[in-house]
Amino acid sequence: MSLRVITFDCANTLVETSWDYADHAMACLDRLGVATDPEWPIVYRRLLMRSWPEYREMNQARPNEADAWWLEFTQVFLEHAGLSRDLAPSLMEASEDLLYRKDKVDFRVYDDIVETLTALRERGFRLGVISNWDYSLGKVLESRGLSEHFDVVTASLVLGVEKPDPLIFQHTLERLGAAPAEALHIGDNPLDDFHGARSAGLRALLVDRSQPRSTDVMLHDMRELLNRV
Ligand SMILES: [Mg+2]
Repeated sequence: MSLRVITFDCANTLVETSWDYADHAMACLDRLGVATDPEWPIVYRRLLMRSWPEYREMNQARPNEADAWWLEFTQVFLEHAGLSRDLAPSLMEASEDLLYRKDKVDFRVYDDIVETLTALRERGFRLGVISNWDYSLGKVLESRGLSEHFDVVTASLVLGVEKPDPLIFQHTLERLGAAPAEALHIGDNPLDDFHGARSAGLRALLVDRSQPRSTDVMLHDMRELLNRV
């Protein structure tokens, strides 16, 4: 069957990131001029780990309540850090600025992405994102000007299924109206992206920009995809 659909992983495929929830919270406190304690990231991670089942459930069942969930979680963290709960709304604002508004310090779009996506769309491919990410995936793509390129965006925490589970690929292809044999998936993770996609019946390629040259199964520059499809 001929190739009609191309799906992409997000983190370290479309955007560069070394995301960490606790480090981000510390950056927000820093922005508010609060001197951070080295123990706080540990406290934050412990609290988040404890709340993770609830966070997963919120992502899947009530993603529109995410802001309220984070506000409450932030208040709990502030209390554990010995800070005032009242700082929470300013911290949330700082977070929005850092992530989505004026600063956008993380999630830098790789230089080879927009050119590639634009050319693929001009050739008539339908494009999707399949990512192990939370409810904020759409927001990140939107704020980086990438949303317009994609017909379907699937975030694992919202769906309740993570890569490498074949179900996340099947679900996305159903929404795109394509069979696995008509689809190619590209990502940076050999297990989640390469083996996950292939076990669902898709073709797969890896991307690794640290390599000097591409191989049969790996691209060292996303623009090379245009010579392969
Ligand atoms: Mg990735």
